Amino acid sequence: MSEAAPAEAVSTIERAYRMRVYPTRSQARTLAQLAGATRFVWNWALDRRSTAYRVDGTKLNWVALSREFTVLRAAPDTAWLSDLPREPFNQVLRDQERAFAGFFAKRAQYPRFRRRGVPLGLRFTLDQRREQVERGHDHDRWVRVNLPGLGTLKLRRTEALAGRLRSITLRREAGAWYASITADGVPVPVAAPAARAAIGVDIGLKDLIVRSDGVHVPAPAAFRAQLGRLCRYQRHYVRQRDAAARRQGLDPAQPFPKGTRIEVSNRMHRTQQRVADLHARIAAVRLEALHRATTDLVRSTQVIAIEDLAVKAMARGMGRRGFRRSVANAAPGELRRQITYKARWTGRTLSVVDRWFPSSKTCSSCGAVNKALQLQERRWTCPACGTEHDRDFNAAVNLEREGLRLLEAGPRAALHTPMSGGIDARGDLGAVAEAQVIALPQHRRSLNRELVAKRCAPNCPKRRSGTGGEDGA
Ligand SMILES: [Zn+2]
Repeated sequence: MSEAAPAEAVSTIERAYRMRVYPTRSQARTLAQLAGATRFVWNWALDRRSTAYRVDGTKLNWVALSREFTVLRAAPDTAWLSDLPREPFNQVLRDQERAFAGFFAKRAQYPRFRRRGVPLGLRFTLDQRREQVERGHDHDRWVRVNLPGLGTLKLRRTEALAGRLRSITLRREAGAWYASITADGVPVPVAAPAARAAIGVDIGLKDLIVRSDGVHVPAPAAFRAQLGRLCRYQRHYVRQRDAAARRQGLDPAQPFPKGTRIEVSNRMHRTQQRVADLHARIAAVRLEALHRATTDLVRSTQVIAIEDLAVKAMARGMGRRGFRRSVANAAPGELRRQITYKARWTGRTLSVVDRWFPSSKTCSSCGAVNKALQLQERRWTCPACGTEHDRDFNAAVNLEREGLRLLEAGPRAALHTPMSGGIDARGDLGAVAEAQVIALPQHRRSLNRELVAKRCAPNCPKRRSGTGGEDGA
């Protein structure tokens, strides 16, 4: 029924697979040593570079440092380095080279020393000529990866690995090890033709997303209880820390003198671990819900219309803590990221609507803008036509229309978005210009024309005569 031509899809993609690692006891020990050692090597290399430059202006590159590192590994004081596989250290030196390149190009700050507890990822390149990865079949529980110095690592197999596997990075998160495997040449998942031409998506506060086809995706239910537990653990930790400060003769109500170290007791460690575990669990639940929502969205429609939210400004500007939390839970930035790449993979078209477009305040039935609408009003009645609206659903319907209008009018349509006062306030049309123009069904065209007439400024060249649309913006 829709004439929407699918945008040309890419045939292969680059992506990363993330899987949990189940190391043996001796592998866990080696991994922990490596985590400390890579930090040591980063700091050593950074010190060598800085000193050499200060002394006689030499700029050491990673080849020179790699040679020095070979000597360091043989030195009696640092011989413990030679027990560990070399590969992750080479990667650290390369990473530092890249960090310096960024600094010299004025893109980044001067690289910093790494503190304890903030380990670097342990990266190994995967040799294409050797069969280092046993990918396993669908009924297998494990992926097996053979790495120098570690032997065969077992990874929990959560999906099939496709394409050329380039590198594996091991990271410790909240007490568990995770592997991120990068791959290229991965065939794009085949997307069936979508049932709907377009769906507008409102990123909600109460709900994760609300779609213009009537689908509400609620935030995961487990959330509230877990947030409560998180608060409790964190209060617990503060009490324990205050008690520890008192034992050291400090007043916890006063700021501690600079350089003070509060001794961390075993109980405090345990609480820290609980907080970290809970954070990891909440993040996992949330990410899972976001992935389900975005995958389902991309499957259901050819065009996705979303609002270009200023996420950070939203989280900062709104005063109430609960509101901030709900915005953070909905994770607009992550939603946007997932929708963007999944749309690209499957050849769907993303239409990004200017953030000044009044999606919530416009009546989707008559087009009147209700300027008096407050943020906390979840339901409202249009003063012009009397239609009752659910705030988020109404916004989603408006986004669908506006998204289609922008596509129909082509990239230049952004210049006609009246609420932004001509050219987008950010001077950035990138997102809109990327959107492809598609053919639209006829009835939509006439509908869109009406909406354009209603919202455009009186001198706008897109304005059609005969429609008196002064009530618009
Ligand atoms: Zn109305």
